[in-house]
Amino acid sequence: MNKLIIEARINEYAGRNQNPHVPWSPEEIAEAAAQCCEAGASIVHFHARSKDGSPEHDIAVYADIIRRIKARSDILIHPTLGAFANDGDAAARIQPILTLAKDPQTRPHFAPLDMGTTNIDAYNPAAKAFRSDEAVYMNTTKTLLYFAEQLKATAVRPYASLWNVGFTRQFLAFMDMGAIAEPAYACLIMTGDDLPSAHPGTEQGLDAHRMFIPKDRNIHWTAMNHGGDLLALVPGIIDQGGHVSIGLGDWAYTDTIPGAATPTNAEVVSQVTSLSRSVGREVATPTEAAAMLGVDL
Ligand code: ZN
Repeated sequence: MNKLIIEARINEYAGRNQNPHVPWSPEEIAEAAAQCCEAGASIVHFHARSKDGSPEHDIAVYADIIRRIKARSDILIHPTLGAFANDGDAAARIQPILTLAKDPQTRPHFAPLDMGTTNIDAYNPAAKAFRSDEAVYMNTTKTLLYFAEQLKATAVRPYASLWNVGFTRQFLAFMDMGAIAEPAYACLIMTGDDLPSAHPGTEQGLDAHRMFIPKDRNIHWTAMNHGGDLLALVPGIIDQGGHVSIGLGDWAYTDTIPGAATPTNAEVVSQVTSLSRSVGREVATPTEAAAMLGVDL
């Protein structure tokens, strides 16, 4: 079986109430990335955060973070796209990535393409009420084709975020058209009960995703669970030849890892590495992951 690619999803917009180890500053993000790489991760996904943890949109901060990560390790770099300018037009949303891509010191290796439009209202199961009711994550086909086309002119590879099977079908259409080339890297998104827009983080939720990834295409799929514990599904993912995207950005992982009440991102990654090695599947280094995913180093 191919080697396991572990992507460390180190922060998203997670707070520190449940786990103080969520990295926010550029130094903390670079430190977490280096530790995760050491623990077996080959890709790091991050969002820039300001001092109080709120979203940071300044491209100079993204450039600073990427320089720091590259100075510390050779882990592959996958910054967010949506947080730059989610409400802007297609050109404004992708421009920061294209700008960062021009300088080898700040060039990311992946940029996410969420392959469709979805409601992203948070639900409060205890109160039986939505926290908002008009939050739409808008990604028109025209916008996505534009992103794919623009990325082709760079060394940044698309990362297809698949929220449900409809997104997967759109992704496959892009592959048919040649807009996304093989080998493709796609993330099967699962979410907790507080964000009912994607598949649930259960075996059935994962299976329903997985059944629509064709075996005759060169697609590497990874799985994440935002708002839920992915560890319970990790042995199955390892067994099925998938890859794992995990970290404190999605779940605090408190009291899930022996000896670490509030684990660091690296301790979560290390747990996945151990699970994989225990069944004889080695984890990929960044160089090996790059070769598998068609990334130009
Ligand atoms: Zn993210």
